[in-house]
Amino acid sequence: MAKAKAKQSLPLHKIIMVGSGGVGKSALTLQYMYGDFVEEYDPTKADCNYTNSYRKKVVLDGQECQIDILDTAGQEEYAAIRDNYYRSGEGFLCVFSVCEQESLEHTQEFRDQILRVLDDETHKIPFILVGNKVDLAHLRKVPATEAQSLAGEWRCPYVETSAKTRQNVEEVYTMLMRQIRDRKAKQQQSSSPDKDSCCVIL
Ligand code: GDP
Ligand code: MG
Repeated sequence: MAKAKAKQSLPLHKIIMVGSGGVGKSALTLQYMYGDFVEEYDPTKADCNYTNSYRKKVVLDGQECQIDILDTAGQEEYAAIRDNYYRSGEGFLCVFSVCEQESLEHTQEFRDQILRVLDDETHKIPFILVGNKVDLAHLRKVPATEAQSLAGEWRCPYVETSAKTRQNVEEVYTMLMRQIRDRKAKQQQSSSPDKDSCCVIL
């Protein structure tokens, strides 16, 4: 009982996976969660075709916390459902496949939707552009420089990953959790009353 309570009170960082179908959002999530890569998913298995959420306890820079990952599948019939998912997120991994040019182009739509839903004009939302499937070097269509320049425009990091070899998988989730943690700390600071401006006159 005491243990369950302790877990509940750990800081929780909520991550949403977005991107076109087939780019590897589920593969990245499952690799991060379970250290597992499945080459061909069983299409009847719920994990790969539907939006799913995962949670685990992790240690971030020596501090225990929980990561919550919502792996979206884009099957949401109503924009309102998608918008609710986005609203529940504190950070986003926007994934494309380096083997598919179109999937990079689609990231713009995902980013626009996220910024619109979160009404984030300052673009401070924790967000990383992720180029997945880099193990398939012979099939690469998107040069790293092209994705880098898009990330530069968006002022967000660009990270290349492989859900197959686990390259940068741990790193990309950790990087995003740090962004989320730091942003929350800043928000807390700015919402606590400023000592100088707060006084009582009797
Ligand atoms: P999602 O629709 O974005 O969730 O994509 P999935 O995770 O279902 O992946 C689609 C297909 O790409 C599956 O057959 C995966 O095994 C494969 N895949 C995903 N990531 C990688 C990767 O990094 N390397 C390789 N070689 N295949 C990948
Ligand atoms: Mg999926």
